[in-house]
Amino acid sequence: MLRGTSLRVTRPRVAVLAAVHDHPHADTNSIIGLVREDLGDVSHQAVYDVLRALTAAGLVRRIHPPGSAARYESRVGDNHHHVVCRSCGAIADVDCAAGTASCLTAADHHGYAIDETEVIYRGFCPGCSTPPLNTI
Ligand SMILES: [Zn+2]
Ligand SMILES: [Zn+2]
Repeated sequence: MLRGTSLRVTRPRVAVLAAVHDHPHADTNSIIGLVREDLGDVSHQAVYDVLRALTAAGLVRRIHPPGSAARYESRVGDNHHHVVCRSCGAIADVDCAAGTASCLTAADHHGYAIDETEVIYRGFCPGCSTPPLNTI
């Protein structure tokens, strides 16, 4: 994936990209933990810098659901949306509601040329919406 961009292939970039790819919607701290398992001691700043470079190159998408830390994923370019659990914060992908970007038409575009729609669906994930057996 890196070779398709102008970014040089470095071990930290490969490790961060692999971590994001294998753990969609991971936050920065989880990614730092995963990269350290792989490469040993890597500074927070190095991981932040790599995430910024990968995001700028379009290899990684940064999402920032309100009330949650920023998350990263390698599923880019399809303008998909997210469903967030109100209880545990788990995040899952939801395909674009209308199939293509910008997905939804704003009731009033205020003269803006809109090219992206970001929808956050909220609710309770299966693990959180099912009461534990001992309370039934
Ligand atoms: Zn949940
Ligand atoms: Zn996603």
